[in-house]
Amino acid sequence: MSPVTHLFASWLVAAKATDNLRDRRLVVLSGILPDLDGAGLLIDLGGQAIHGGDSFYYYQQYHHFLLHGIAGAVAMSLVLAAFARCRWRVAMLCLLVIHLHFLCDLVGSRGPTPQDIWPLFYFGPLTYRYALSGAHQWPLDAWPNRVFTLVLFYYCLKLPLTLGDSVVGVFNRRADRIFVSVLRNWAQRLSARFVQKRLESN
Ligand SMILES: [Zn+2]
Repeated sequence: MSPVTHLFASWLVAAKATDNLRDRRLVVLSGILPDLDGAGLLIDLGGQAIHGGDSFYYYQQYHHFLLHGIAGAVAMSLVLAAFARCRWRVAMLCLLVIHLHFLCDLVGSRGPTPQDIWPLFYFGPLTYRYALSGAHQWPLDAWPNRVFTLVLFYYCLKLPLTLGDSVVGVFNRRADRIFVSVLRNWAQRLSARFVQKRLESN
């Protein structure tokens, strides 16, 4: 699925399961990092710009192979946990969130045609064998991905009203404070308008 979907899903897990911003950021990062193995796309695009052609060799060869497996999951979790306040908790949460990322990719990361199923190499980068793939994997831009992302987005707006910080805090704490106060303002206005309409209709 798209990095934005992974960001929202990871933040929701992290927001519920961590009690400080540092650990929350690390857990969210773990939900996005696996897609770093898709960076070969930049090399491919650079090659196309220089030499022409339409090769996506590096992207196709290494995306879902280098960091979308158990070795990558353990390595990323341990490295991120080393920077955490609650190391064991963050390590476990990172493992969980990374596997949530894998699951999302398994169900909704197909290419444009039914033949373009994108497997997940769980034992990569050691071997291409024992790849995981779903026969019912839907395309990356299919409606279930959009609906799922919208639902996650809704909860990413709702949870900050009680929690006091939002997904924006992953990037900038000050911007987050402004964002949450705007959200709370909107929510108050909406509920006041709702109450007024109820009173008027009665
Ligand atoms: Zn991925």
